[in-house]
Amino acid sequence: MRHCDACAVDIEGAWGRCPLCGTPVTGEATASPLPSVPLTFSRRRVVRVLFFTSLAVILASFAAQLLFSHELTGLGMIRSVWLGLSAMWLVVLMAVRKRRNLAKSTVYLVVIVGLICVYWDYLSGWPGWSLTYAVPILCASSIVALLITVRLMRIETGEHVVYSVLTVLLGLAPIGFLAFGWVTNALPSIICGGLSLIVLVLLQLVGGRTVRHELGKRLHV
Ligand SMILES: [Zn+2]
Repeated sequence: MRHCDACAVDIEGAWGRCPLCGTPVTGEATASPLPSVPLTFSRRRVVRVLFFTSLAVILASFAAQLLFSHELTGLGMIRSVWLGLSAMWLVVLMAVRKRRNLAKSTVYLVVIVGLICVYWDYLSGWPGWSLTYAVPILCASSIVALLITVRLMRIETGEHVVYSVLTVLLGLAPIGFLAFGWVTNALPSIICGGLSLIVLVLLQLVGGRTVRHELGKRLHV
């Protein structure tokens, strides 16, 4: 057992210095009487803190873009890389959070990526590529992806239906862009809007009653 001459006490455990006064101790070390408790932390809490920190940084970086005028030469490239990286990180964050419900994740993805594209377009002086190409292509692709994954012929009940319908309704938005003359090339909007209408009709034919029932139940209509 170790011994502190200054305090005249015996000390259990492998102390190098006296825990009372700090003087170096003498004698042989013995086993500590206390169990060794590992430092623990809550993984979920760490993930949550990381999530919200990332979200805050991304939103701040998006807001910061407003401070720089789009007339500044040489900024375009840096801004695109910056926006691209932030957007990618945001999508990863959302994908991690919403991994359980595929249809729900799709709606989130379409809305978030669509909004980022529109913002990006706005920051770079509004050439109109977001509404002309990005949003219609995004909507059309997500509808096709949903058709493949959920397989409309065998409609899954519950939230999936609600979010699938939401995705299809989002696909109708490009028809509005077209009507308001916001697009420079009509083709992507026409394809996307047409696809949405076809899928809506299909939904009605294949599982109209199921869809109405689920929507009524979820949205209280
Ligand atoms: Zn001591």
